[in-house]
Amino acid sequence: MEPLPFIESKTSSRKWFVVITIVLCLAGVRVHGQTGFVSNENFVIYCTSSRIPRDKNNDELYQKILQENQERAEKIMIMAERYKKEFSEEIFDQTIPYGKGTCRIDVEITSEKKHRAYFYPKTTSKHHYSNIEIKTSEQRLFESTLAHEIVHLVIDHKLGTDFIPRWLDEGIASIQDGDKTRIGRRIQIMDYAQTDNWPSLEEVMKVKKVTSDMHEFYTMAFYFTQYLSSITPKNSLNLVEFGQKTKIAKDKKDLDEAAKKYYKMSFDELEAQWHAWVRQKYGIRMPIKQNKLPMIKRVNPLVR
Ligand SMILES: [Zn+2]
Repeated sequence: MEPLPFIESKTSSRKWFVVITIVLCLAGVRVHGQTGFVSNENFVIYCTSSRIPRDKNNDELYQKILQENQERAEKIMIMAERYKKEFSEEIFDQTIPYGKGTCRIDVEITSEKKHRAYFYPKTTSKHHYSNIEIKTSEQRLFESTLAHEIVHLVIDHKLGTDFIPRWLDEGIASIQDGDKTRIGRRIQIMDYAQTDNWPSLEEVMKVKKVTSDMHEFYTMAFYFTQYLSSITPKNSLNLVEFGQKTKIAKDKKDLDEAAKKYYKMSFDELEAQWHAWVRQKYGIRMPIKQNKLPMIKRVNPLVR
């Protein structure tokens, strides 16, 4: 028995609806209409917000939100262009030609509690170019998050994310973080220095995947990068090459060789020197530990 034409057309239209929805999701196309959009050869920017009008028929509010997101998208473009130029000059002494290292930026303005930000290099991005995804408050976006992620973009374009270890990538990008984050890191590093209870630097070197809640990792990466930059302030190549060696290091012996080659000391010495640099920076005295007190030589009275 042939299906009734009515049923067939309903099934078929449902099928197409599912297919189109999947395609739209895969393509990353946002289906709700309050998204601000702007693009050029360097950036493709989408900005939306979690603020959705309750009354869908309230056209005035809808237009207002759309307008806000459009203005944000345009501001993101101006800032992203500025950061890309500034950071490539600062870090690599070069500018990136227009249209090279194209990046899609997806921003959702939401509460700061939901903060998350990722940079996906072209190789792992679901798009044809690299991708920055940010969910955060408007204040934090423009104060630090966008700048931090653009550093990753510049490093990826110049060196390739596969080339650089996570600690150095985050160590360089973290310079852009806002005051609140920096104060938190300072308290954390001062605590390590005051108690002389430091997380292992060797473990930090091994980290392959980072999430924004890994505060200890960010603190270590930031301060260690700062220290290395202070040893060879005008030689970022030295830092980058050392970083690359730590990325391919298989064990402590390899880390030792890298430290000796680029900083003329063993890895343990480099770590100890870094600790001393942090103590000096914050005026912290070397804590005296009971078990580290020098042994007082006692002469055996019987022998005497
Ligand atoms: Zn980062």
